[in-house]
Amino acid sequence: MDERLSAPLSVIKGAGPRRAALLEKLGLRTIYDLLFFFPRKYEDRRNVRKISALVPGAPSVVIARSRGCEARALPGRGRRLIKCRFSDGSGLLDAVWFNIKGLENSLGEGTRAALYGVPSLRGGVFEMLSPEFEILKEGAGPESFAGIVPVYPLTAGLPKNWLCRTIAAAVKTYAPLLEDPIPQEIREKNKLMPLAEAVAQMHAPDSPQSWKEARRRMAYGELFALQLAMAASRARNAKSGAARAKRGPLFLAMMENLPFKLTDSQQKVIDEIIDGASAGAQSARLLQGDVGSGKTAVAAAFAAAICDGGAQCAVLAPTEALAGQLCAQMKKYIPLAEGECLLIKGSMPAAARRKAEASAADGSARIIAGTQALLSEKLKFRKLGAVVIDEQQRFGVRQRGRLLADAAHPHLLMMSATPIPRTTALTLYGDLDLSVIDSVPAGRAPIETRLADYAKLPELLRFAAREILAGGRVYWICPRVEEGDGAAVSAVKRYEWLVKKLPPVKISLVHGQLESADKERALADFRSGASQLLVGTTVLEVGIDVPEASVIVIESPERYGLSQLHQLRGRVGRGARRGVCILLSSAAEDVPRLRKFAATNDGFEIARIDLETRGAGELAGIAQHGDAGLKSADLARDAELAMLARRDVQELAARGGLPPAETSERKK
Ligand code: ADP
Ligand code: MG
Repeated sequence: MDERLSAPLSVIKGAGPRRAALLEKLGLRTIYDLLFFFPRKYEDRRNVRKISALVPGAPSVVIARSRGCEARALPGRGRRLIKCRFSDGSGLLDAVWFNIKGLENSLGEGTRAALYGVPSLRGGVFEMLSPEFEILKEGAGPESFAGIVPVYPLTAGLPKNWLCRTIAAAVKTYAPLLEDPIPQEIREKNKLMPLAEAVAQMHAPDSPQSWKEARRRMAYGELFALQLAMAASRARNAKSGAARAKRGPLFLAMMENLPFKLTDSQQKVIDEIIDGASAGAQSARLLQGDVGSGKTAVAAAFAAAICDGGAQCAVLAPTEALAGQLCAQMKKYIPLAEGECLLIKGSMPAAARRKAEASAADGSARIIAGTQALLSEKLKFRKLGAVVIDEQQRFGVRQRGRLLADAAHPHLLMMSATPIPRTTALTLYGDLDLSVIDSVPAGRAPIETRLADYAKLPELLRFAAREILAGGRVYWICPRVEEGDGAAVSAVKRYEWLVKKLPPVKISLVHGQLESADKERALADFRSGASQLLVGTTVLEVGIDVPEASVIVIESPERYGLSQLHQLRGRVGRGARRGVCILLSSAAEDVPRLRKFAATNDGFEIARIDLETRGAGELAGIAQHGDAGLKSADLARDAELAMLARRDVQELAARGGLPPAETSERKK
């Protein structure tokens, strides 16, 4: 990249240290950052009119001369109203502003200005409230003021006009220095404008059509870069020397021991995963299965086969509590000897930790569970054969690439309960093979979902009490940990309230701000039945498996995407008792969405509704995660463009013409 692009923003005239600090708040440090800081929206100010031709309610630009201003104090400290009368020879226009210091002087009699606002008629004279304006020199036209004008995200203290002017100047000077990472022939084939031009059009489009083309170019660029990274990652996996999964003694003993019969679907994906990892080439796979479809047993079968191949398996979860559960399930499913399956925690006493690390290094531990920190801490394995990652959508393409590049060539199995439409999956996980568990274990009644409002709270309490008396257990989810300014009840408050209302019931509380040991104690109590009601925040969202849990109450469901609600409700109905999910809400406007949710238990259908109503970013945050590098592209809208980028990269790869992945315009 040209050095001038990576220069700090202080090279810009008028950006002193104070403004630089404010720009940094917006994530802007270099000229490059500024070029890619796109408007939040645009104002179409192309409608330039004579005052006599104004239409009340229609936003317009007027070019007129001031006939003088008057300023008036308003009730309230320091509040002022400034009124200026303008004329353009065709009629009169009053412009009114509040609290702008010195305005009456800068717009004194005779000053020429362009004004943009919404006119209304008042006593036969047009009026604009707080119009945007620009003072014009004699003979000058309104130029960019009357074009399509960018509106940038703002931060307090940064003058809007200054930011606009600064960016416009930077784009003019520096955008031409941008090199286009997309090969010219691909650009021509797909009718994409060059990067420099697209960046300029993103900031100041000549027309809505040219903005559309610029956005398409930016979106394609991001998707192309993403596919390049994936192609690079795939090329790496093709290397041999990986551990071989085997259906050996441990695997066979596990199959004998399972407390249930595997579903056909589980059997099918176990075969896919083991076969894919038995030839000596490194494999990388995404396992999708709806909540409760039994992904853990599949992972255990794979781990056992890896052990049978003479290697170790790391199993990772997003939290220590989940890693602990995963470890316990592995032990339950696989007949391992004491010490062969280990949990490594950040909070372990030093001696225990050293002992655990030693057994990972000498190979006496065959399955090692923990959080992703295990990987970054450079824990030493004797022979790391595979890494299984549970419930982790945010494990992006770069992290996957790094893991697969590890000298030991571990296989990768990522598990996700967020069902992603095929095109989206190919875009975000195109470097992985895909296996799908498409059914849940038989004999499970579908979860019943009910909508309730706060008037039903007493009835709901009685229902929860009866459920617990009958042997069930209840989750109670609140959106926040503590009281704040919002209206929603906090987990702590709800916990205290429930303790008062249900004295015979043992209640636990779990939320993100607790110490890890306290969190684990709360979960362990709920799991064992020492407590029967667990109040929590969405830390309970992923993976927790307590078969006795039968009811989940979710407060303020309007705060969550449907896929997230589906994850939450998947916590119940995993055992013998049928599951009930109660959505406790006072947001009437959200009812239609929640009704749709209540009507289906199909995760794929729910992801589709989410995608339609809230966009791809809401699919558990996958698309918006910085690692995917998607800022302009939207996977719901740009599915076709994504497939196009994928095909282009495949074609390039087939011809051996791949540019290196890192020359992308994506940052970092
Ligand atoms: P998820 O796919 O959501 O991670 P889990 O692996 O936690 O699901 O399994 C959910 C529950 O279903 C667990 O309690 C597990 O013991 C049980 N289970 C898994 N497979 C089967 C099966 N084939 N038959 C009956 N129950 C099963
Ligand atoms: Mg799970």
